[in-house]
Amino acid sequence: MRSFQLQLKFFCVCLFLYTGACKKDPFKEFLGKNEDEKEYPEGHVGPRTVNYRNLTVVEYPVTCTKENALSDIGEVTLTVRMRTKEEPTRFVFSKVPGNPLSLAGLGKFFHSRHIVHAYKDCNRLGPGQFNCNSSDVKTVDEGKPIYICDRNPKPNTMEHEVLAAFLGLYQLKVDFPADFDLNEVIFFPRIEDTIEIPGSAPLVTPSIDNAFWSRDSRGIQRITFLPTSKETERNYPIRLPRQPPLAAHEGGHRIFSKLGEPLLLAQNALRETLEGEAGEFDDTDQSWTTFNASAQQNATEVSRGAVTMSAVISSINEGIADIVAAIVAGLNLYLLSAGFEYGNMKLARDPYSKITDDGKIKALTASVIKHFFRAVDKSRNLGLTPNHKDVHTLGAIFAFTFLDLFREKMERENLSKEAAIPTAREKLKTFIARLNKAYANFPPRDAPEADRARSTDPKMLLSYLLREMISLYMPANGTLTNEQCNITFTHFPALIDEWRANVLRSCNF
Ligand SMILES: [Zn+2]
Repeated sequence: MRSFQLQLKFFCVCLFLYTGACKKDPFKEFLGKNEDEKEYPEGHVGPRTVNYRNLTVVEYPVTCTKENALSDIGEVTLTVRMRTKEEPTRFVFSKVPGNPLSLAGLGKFFHSRHIVHAYKDCNRLGPGQFNCNSSDVKTVDEGKPIYICDRNPKPNTMEHEVLAAFLGLYQLKVDFPADFDLNEVIFFPRIEDTIEIPGSAPLVTPSIDNAFWSRDSRGIQRITFLPTSKETERNYPIRLPRQPPLAAHEGGHRIFSKLGEPLLLAQNALRETLEGEAGEFDDTDQSWTTFNASAQQNATEVSRGAVTMSAVISSINEGIADIVAAIVAGLNLYLLSAGFEYGNMKLARDPYSKITDDGKIKALTASVIKHFFRAVDKSRNLGLTPNHKDVHTLGAIFAFTFLDLFREKMERENLSKEAAIPTAREKLKTFIARLNKAYANFPPRDAPEADRARSTDPKMLLSYLLREMISLYMPANGTLTNEQCNITFTHFPALIDEWRANVLRSCNF
């Protein structure tokens, strides 16, 4: 344990990732959803369908008071998920006050904020389903500051669960000091939908089992860790907030919003054009055929495929967030997991794992692309097979490939462990800068007419953006190594033909 502690001090500590929220069965439903990066709710006017779920949120006891809180937290023991399981582990929070808990650059921290999204004038449509004619949103309680008294807090207390979730943010700030900042961090808020039916008591559905980065209309950058439900706790032993990659992944979205702003603006602009209202996005049900892509110089998209330019950028955004989590977790050189375990998923969202939970290699094959771009897909893969309509699943392929190319570079150049994290960070930042530039130049001006005609084809955009990953790792002599060729061939097989004439021209396939 001693040596681990030293590693943490020098390097990092750890952390985490993602989050998926869910309707009935959180871990299963999540597979087909894109629910992080969601906004806090906003009210509406006009009929809307609302679902009710009977869930009970887990509440953590708060015992620490300001008077007894630590002025410098220092070394703590927390039960968090390491490589495969939750275990008590020592971490050092250097110069972090516990009276209240805060970290320079990350704004204010609160627990137990209470927000009610009240749906009004509702009538029952079917089991658990209601039609509501309007809603409004009220912040009932801004939340309370967080005090830390105990360096060995018991799991299932507010102190323990907050510090476990905080761990990923702390390490992210260590590893990306100039690129990661926030205005607020909200731990375990009560965000409730209330369904008001004339003549009955309101039904209350809490938001659970997720975390998300958001930027609201006032520009407030925030990461929110939703609470767990009792139903989830009964079914799944490992808690999301105890997985440091969760926080690091969400922080990765903040980094992308800063360094990849043109892409994020395009992702949002293209999406809003299509779906009308942010927050109502359902990527399983896209049936439009035409739209104006305002972010693309009046280009008119004619797409009969299901997936949009926005979803392509979103999948890249998810991949980058997973890469950030992997860097923060120490690039597989230390004892921390970079992924998170979620229900049946143990490998699919682990950026160190070459395979998914069904034993297959993470790869952008022709059939994966076909699945991603399928017009309407009501099917849900609820078992171990990844749902390739989910931008997170695509992002996981990109993340693994990026990290494998980085591993090859480390080995070829004999990079030391100490140099690995900062080098990977700079590589990732260069990648994002290249993506911005590539998107600004899309469609390529020198493309033949046939290519220009399909320039609003999201598949072309996907190929065009991912190509930047290969050129990023291209050695100075312009010749890819055999191993680089093999990595590309293994994980991006469906793009090989398009890239043969350019980035892969030195490969012998
Ligand atoms: Zn995400």
